[in-house]
Amino acid sequence: MENWDGNEGTSAFHMPEWMIQFADQKQEFNKRPTKIGRRSLSRSISQSSTDSYSSAASYTDSSDDETSPRDKQQKNSKGSSDFCVKNIKQAEFGRREIEIAEQEMPALMALRKRAQGEKPLAGAKIVGCTHITAQTAFPVFAWKGESEDDFWWCIDRCVNVEGWQPNMILDDGGDLTHWIYKKYPNMFKKIKGIVEESVTGVHRLYQLSKAGKLCVPAMNVNDSVTKQKFDNLYCCRESILDGLKRTTDMMFGGKQVVVCGYGEVGKGCCAALKAMGSIVYVTEIDPICALQACMDGFRLVKLNEVIRQVDIVITCTGNKNVVTREHLDRMKNSCIVCNMGHSNTEIDVASLRTPELTWERVRSQVDHVIWPDGKRIVLLAEGRLLNLSCSTVPTFVLSITATTQALALIELYNAPEGRYKQDVYLLPKKMDEYVASLHLPTFDAHLTELTDEQAKYLGLNKNGPFKPNYYRY
Ligand code: NAD
Repeated sequence: MENWDGNEGTSAFHMPEWMIQFADQKQEFNKRPTKIGRRSLSRSISQSSTDSYSSAASYTDSSDDETSPRDKQQKNSKGSSDFCVKNIKQAEFGRREIEIAEQEMPALMALRKRAQGEKPLAGAKIVGCTHITAQTAFPVFAWKGESEDDFWWCIDRCVNVEGWQPNMILDDGGDLTHWIYKKYPNMFKKIKGIVEESVTGVHRLYQLSKAGKLCVPAMNVNDSVTKQKFDNLYCCRESILDGLKRTTDMMFGGKQVVVCGYGEVGKGCCAALKAMGSIVYVTEIDPICALQACMDGFRLVKLNEVIRQVDIVITCTGNKNVVTREHLDRMKNSCIVCNMGHSNTEIDVASLRTPELTWERVRSQVDHVIWPDGKRIVLLAEGRLLNLSCSTVPTFVLSITATTQALALIELYNAPEGRYKQDVYLLPKKMDEYVASLHLPTFDAHLTELTDEQAKYLGLNKNGPFKPNYYRY
């Protein structure tokens, strides 16, 4: 992690003037957001299926049309065909959904309003591989149910454009960055920076940096404190119950649950289930997290010790084969098994695809796997992330993520020569604090200001940053 820690040395970071001013205009945030004129500078692609924790609550295209969007002739309301989506006629509905969502995205709306005047991204040509939706402003190439081939085709359509070349990359998973590296490396001559959102994408960037192959600065927004807390802890604290309810209609009170992993995601799941009256056990490999679980009132056990008695098993480790076939064999009848952690590696689902076991699809995302003696377990989302597959991500969480991404783009785009080298950087602490402060008015929260004397005593600037980079929240 030396490159990320190295960020601490970049104290040359300065909050752009317009952001500092913006921080003083908190009264604005409670007002209904105004729509801004749309820019026509960016092209976007949907993000691929697996490892993202910020996927937008998607509205489903109800049309039964099986024709591939690639074979359809569609025009948007401005008569342009420079896009490829499933059904452009859904755009109006989508716009209404966005307007509702905007009410829960106070910081993003405030940032948008401010940016309208200041234009901090004037001249930016952004290619994005994330959840971007607009009918006439950006050429979008994306649809639900893309094949692998479609996915790369969409990426290429966004990058390989006559007379247009991006100067910023907004990525979520590293696929877009990878494609440009592989197919159009010369493009990096004009690219000022990469903003990456996902664990996987950041990992890839870090590897590139280590190999000396990263040729532009990159901002790791995945590890911003605010984003992490919302994506991992607060979001999972809410969506674990939502995902379980939608798929099983179960009651939580009195149920015995084992949560594997007591990191951010595990802590969120445990807190929610405990609050609902469940009896929660925790498994951990790390004594520090294990001790935290004990201090929070959870029984720390080995999975083997409770596997026969629990009603629900939830994995949150980021690890592989945490729940093995042996565990699955020993579970009691009707035990619910699901994953909130890393893609589909945590539960050994492949081991259940054997001839002696019968799979019964009960409803979307819910399978009963039946043993020869009649015992059945309830497997949710085939071991993929329960909340991403079976519930929605709260709009407020998306506001945090999108605001963080936008600030990272603005910072990289406007940074003077030399502030960022060809390396991976964390979002500067002050910006992280700024994202949080933009969301406070939603709660009518009143932040205490340091007195001059207190600031001096703590050795802090009154406007932040308030914590060193190594501080653990
Ligand atoms: P974390 O590192 O804070 O926590 C994971 C914990 O699991 C650690 O404390 C680790 O010691 C423990 N662990 C590892 N192997 C274990 C094992 N075999 N048995 C028991 N415990 C084990 O990470 P996190 O932020 O909690 O994220 C966990 C996973 O969830 C990651 O893969 C992350 O990408 C994913 N995630 C999911 C969502 C979502 O919306 N579902 C959101 C954010 C992150």
